[in-house]
Amino acid sequence: MQKVLIIGAGGVGAVAAHKCAQVPEVFGEIMLASRTAARCDAVAARLPRPIRTAGVDADNPRELVPLIDNFKPDLVINVALPYQDLHIMDACLECGVHYLDTANYEAPEKAEFAYGPQWAYRERFREKGLTAVLGSGFDPGVTNVFCAYAQKHHFDEIRELDIIDCNAGDHGLPFATNFNPEINIREVTARGRWWDRGEWLEIDPLSWSMTYDFPDGIGRKKCFLLYHEELESLVLNIRGLKRARFWMTFSESYLTHLKILENVGMTRIDAVDFEGRAIVPLRFLKALLPDPASLGPLTRGKTCIGCLLKGSKDGIDRVCYLYNVCDHQECMREVGSQAVSYTTGVPAMIGAKLVLEGVWKKPGVWNLEELDPDPFMRDLNRYGLPWVERFDPAG
Ligand code: NDP
Repeated sequence: MQKVLIIGAGGVGAVAAHKCAQVPEVFGEIMLASRTAARCDAVAARLPRPIRTAGVDADNPRELVPLIDNFKPDLVINVALPYQDLHIMDACLECGVHYLDTANYEAPEKAEFAYGPQWAYRERFREKGLTAVLGSGFDPGVTNVFCAYAQKHHFDEIRELDIIDCNAGDHGLPFATNFNPEINIREVTARGRWWDRGEWLEIDPLSWSMTYDFPDGIGRKKCFLLYHEELESLVLNIRGLKRARFWMTFSESYLTHLKILENVGMTRIDAVDFEGRAIVPLRFLKALLPDPASLGPLTRGKTCIGCLLKGSKDGIDRVCYLYNVCDHQECMREVGSQAVSYTTGVPAMIGAKLVLEGVWKKPGVWNLEELDPDPFMRDLNRYGLPWVERFDPAG
């Protein structure tokens, strides 16, 4: 019987716990631990079978290591915040446990999105015979697997990649983020960056947009170029890639609010003095904004996230669009969460399942496109994220 420890009981952690609980043949025993123990208990009360819960500050090894040592999980799913990644990887090494997360490490004081600090653990995981899987959410995560699958089955060479992330859902609130507000706003307000013929090019935040016509009745939406972490590993691992970009849709209301918050300094991540106390404005803002886990009952509409790939097979140019459409209300009915938490929590469960089954057990630290995409693609269809592949005329 295998055991999994899930760290982080927010929107994504709740879905990961729910989906692991649906697969008892792999996840024999589950513990959900987070900074606020009461949140774990609230999630546990909604699950189809009993799980264990605990309070833990994952930044504190004196709390984390004994928790892991006592429960003795086979794998830790880290769905806390990017700030905890290295501390949890250290604890996994110390306790001899496999590791999986959904977001690259970030230092709280610097909004930098880079895999370097986690890739530096490769040798240590290899030596201990442990597997660490990085970025097993949707993007990063499923998008990396889509690229690996396309490379394996549909292309000799992929020259252009556009990852296009559309949330066409509406929660009816003037301003809310679909995952942790602090992490979301750090990402969206960073400079845009993309890969073009061997070099990274940069633009001001949200200063380049295009319109894309999304399938399944979603229709035409404006998408903005952002830097997204999976580009860093994909340009290394996908053969022949000349250009790689990432795009995301935002509503007018979101953009207007964000601009004003930025203009008045509320998105700053450095500490400012407030009545004799140092506070970080973005952290204060997070405390005021809706909890993403509370958006489930409010959100209607769909997400559509996919990869548009251009390249060639057997000397003939081709265009392939691989995507998933997910309905917010269907996610709500199944696990009590909106689709952004769902599309992250399901791939976290699938990645963990493949490691525990031995299919993805491979000592070292891996991004998803470095692992066999076929079993992951099969499980996406099986566990709630069916995908579609469409071949468009090359041009
Ligand atoms: P939430 O803010 O809803 O949840 C984060 C949880 O982590 C909270 O319950 C929080 O505890 C807990 N936590 C924070 N710090 C600690 C700590 N030091 N020790 C233990 N627990 C801690 O975030 P989301 O669920 O929306 O996102 C979770 C992760 O998923 C993030 O890293 C995010 O970047 C990633 N993500 C990845 C996506 C992908 O597609 N790859 C998409 C969306 C999200 P408390 O309740 O006490 O605050």
